[in-house]
Amino acid sequence: MTFAVKIPEVPPQSYKSIGREAVEFLRKFYPEGLQKPCPIPIIDILDANHKFEEETGFTLLAEELGFGILGQTDFCQNVITIPPATYIAAQLHAGREKFTVGHELGHAWLHGDFFKGCIMENKISVLNRSDIKVFRNPEWQAEAFASAVLMPTPMVVNICRKGATVEDVMDTFKVSYKAAENRVNKIHKFL
Ligand SMILES: [Zn+2]
Repeated sequence: MTFAVKIPEVPPQSYKSIGREAVEFLRKFYPEGLQKPCPIPIIDILDANHKFEEETGFTLLAEELGFGILGQTDFCQNVITIPPATYIAAQLHAGREKFTVGHELGHAWLHGDFFKGCIMENKISVLNRSDIKVFRNPEWQAEAFASAVLMPTPMVVNICRKGATVEDVMDTFKVSYKAAENRVNKIHKFL
């Protein structure tokens, strides 16, 4: 989902509660990801069987998007769209592309019901980016979800307690250095 200037406000979520939502997601669709620290095959989870579509109503589509648009979540059509190149790279565990898919999944998983309700009632409160509180910002929430679904809280806590470095987290979960660094910095506050 992309917004040029204005952003709709969504119900508040903390970093921790988004981490719990990601664990719930994995428990349903990829429990193996909660048994040992491992790369999360996000494309396979969304596309290899019909479970995700059946349970959430969302379909993953690989289709070209407008210039500069990394991914898109359509709450009317229930479609997550990513460019074919992103699909292929994410399937091969390229960190940045997996994060893009995780971000769009975050919108679908966290905001699907809320936005569908807003669309039906025709009321969305849209604010300037600077006026929106971080915990109510859907973009911040989607970023936090991507991070937590690709590096599940209990798994990251587990290896960080054993002294894992940012590089270890990057290698273990096959994410970008930046994503691993960000997650480790946040997780260290919970240790
Ligand atoms: Zn977004």
